[in-house]
Order: sequence, then structure tokens, then C-alpha cells
Amino acid sequence: MNYQSRQARFEELFPNQPKFRFQQLEKNLFNYDFEDYLQMSNIPAEMRQTLQDDFEFISVKENLIQNSRSKDTYKATLEVEGGKLIETVLMQNKRGQWTVCVSSQVGCAMACEFCATGKMGLIKSLHCDEIIDQYRFWKYFLKKNPDLEQRISNIVFMGMGEPLANYENVKQTLNKLLKYTDLGPTKITVSTVGVIPALIKILNDPEWPHVRLALSLHSADQPSRKDIVPTTFNDFLDKIEEWAHEYLVKFGNKKHHLTFEYVMLRGVNDTPMHSKKLADFVMKIGNVKVNLIPYNYIGTQFECSTGEDIEKFMNKLKGSGVNVTRRKNMGTDIDAACGQLSNKQSKTKI
Ligand code: SF4
Repeated sequence: MNYQSRQARFEELFPNQPKFRFQQLEKNLFNYDFEDYLQMSNIPAEMRQTLQDDFEFISVKENLIQNSRSKDTYKATLEVEGGKLIETVLMQNKRGQWTVCVSSQVGCAMACEFCATGKMGLIKSLHCDEIIDQYRFWKYFLKKNPDLEQRISNIVFMGMGEPLANYENVKQTLNKLLKYTDLGPTKITVSTVGVIPALIKILNDPEWPHVRLALSLHSADQPSRKDIVPTTFNDFLDKIEEWAHEYLVKFGNKKHHLTFEYVMLRGVNDTPMHSKKLADFVMKIGNVKVNLIPYNYIGTQFECSTGEDIEKFMNKLKGSGVNVTRRKNMGTDIDAACGQLSNKQSKTKI
């Protein structure tokens, strides 16, 4: 069974309503004073009652919430259409506000070797409503916990799934988030493993909003990249270089750079050869920031690079003029960190 969108069901229930009515309803869904349809006093009373009876208020259902020991990360396992489970994470950021990490698919077809989601294979892509409602879920969660900071200042598409393999739903989600929340395009990041046809599409799609893009590069050496991301095409690095030049010419500016994510794997992509190749690759492209991610062990053949090796790697990049940061691992004790999402701790099985 496929998820039928809120809009399609609304139009079925109320075929003669003017177009603005659905937009009004949608706007209301981002107003957290409303806890159900009956409270939406700006829409006709009869309609409110029908919505209350026939329409779910939020398309994701809480299954489990876990909180890290450090109390700066929450992970929610949520049920979506068809009883499938996804995970979404709420992380405290440097400013003490929150970043929400959303999933775009149940499972993922990209099969990255270091990633728990990749081990699940692709089960289904999420509908735009189901992605948006992960953000709405956290907004209501914060409202129920008034002692916590209330502001969500960033959204990252770094949860389960490859966002660009669910292009249309992710595009719609981004446009709605920009329309109905106070977040601007630099506060939202879509992370991709590098789906070349979709990246090319972005270059010429007038409806694609230019939020930040983070590309999971993981190696600028073709054979090691293929070991980490087996779905890598043979000419991947050449294609990415060509694409990145075009992307930055069209959309790059002081606020809008590209990010290369780089998971640090001991002996696999952290040697002096790898840092040199990465530095050369980045410097050829230009406006790129590199983010090093210490690997979170999920029981694969990989190990995280040592602290010393990460330091050396970072210094080598800095010495070559690369803008590089190291990501702080959050929520590892509840399997909420990068590469760990897989819903294995849910109350029910998928
Ligand atoms: S890292 Fe991302 S793209 Fe790769 S398998 Fe995991 S979810 Fe998919």
C-alpha cells in the first residue's frame, strides 16, 4: 500500500473547497498551538470535525524515544505507513539549540559498507508528509518538555536513506520547510552519497531550493572509495569534480559552499596518500569544506582511525590550505550517531 498524501486525501474529502483551504490547513500544521484539528478555529467548524474524525494529525507514530547519557541527543523510532519504522534524531548544537536529523527512506539501496542503514537494503521511500512530520514530531516533543531549549535551528537530511534517491519528495519537503518554518536555506543541509544524475538535475531544476549540500566523499582515491561505497561508478571522482565546478559557479558564494563528508576508517582512507589525494581534489574544486567524521563502530570490518591519525590527517589538509573540521560524535550510546541508524532497538520489528 502506498502512502496517500494529505493533500490528495483532503481533496477527496472536500472536492469543492477553494485551493487556499488546503494551504491554510498546511500552515496550521506548522502552528504548534494547535494540538488537533478541532482547535483550528480559522477553518470551518464542519470541516474541522471531519478532519478530526478521518484524518491523522501527524503521519508518524511514536514507537520509542531514547536519550543519550550526556542528555544532548534524543533518538525517536517512529512508525510510518505500512507499519515500517524509521529513526530521527534531535541533537543539541554549538549554540545550545537543536538540530533535527531526518530520514528520507526506510533502509537504503546505496549499501555503504560502514553504515547500518545500508545493511537493511531499501524498503521504501518516504512521502514528503512523512519527512516533514519528523520535524513536527520534534516540535511537539519540545513543547511537551518545556524545560528543554525550544528552538530547532537546523535540519539535516542525514538519517536513514539517500535523499537524492527520493528526489521529488525531498524537494517538496525542502520547499515546504522553507515556506512554513523560520529556517533559511543555509540552515538546512541535504547529505548525499553522490547520485550523479540527481546532482546534475539539481543544477537545472528551478524548483530545487538551494539549501546546503554535503557530499559523502569518504575518499578521493577511486579504489578506496569503491571499497567504502560499493555503488561508486568508475569515473565517479571525475564526474564529481566536473559537477562541483558547475555547481559552485552557479550557486557558490560566501555563505554557500559545498561540504565533503569524510568518515575516518583506519588504514582504509586515512593514510598520507589519502590526505594528499583529498587535499589535491579539494583544492582543484575551491569553495569546499571538509568534515571529518570519526567512524562509529557497527560491527563491520572497519575500525575508526586513531585520534592521532585523525589529527595528522587534519593537519595535513590544513597545511595544504583546506578548510577542515572534525565532527563531534553525539548519541553513540543510543546508536544515534552517523551510520548507526537502523531501528534495531525499536519496540516492534519491521
Ligand atoms: S551512508 Fe547514507 S547513502 Fe550510504 S547506505 Fe547509509 S544511509 Fe545509505
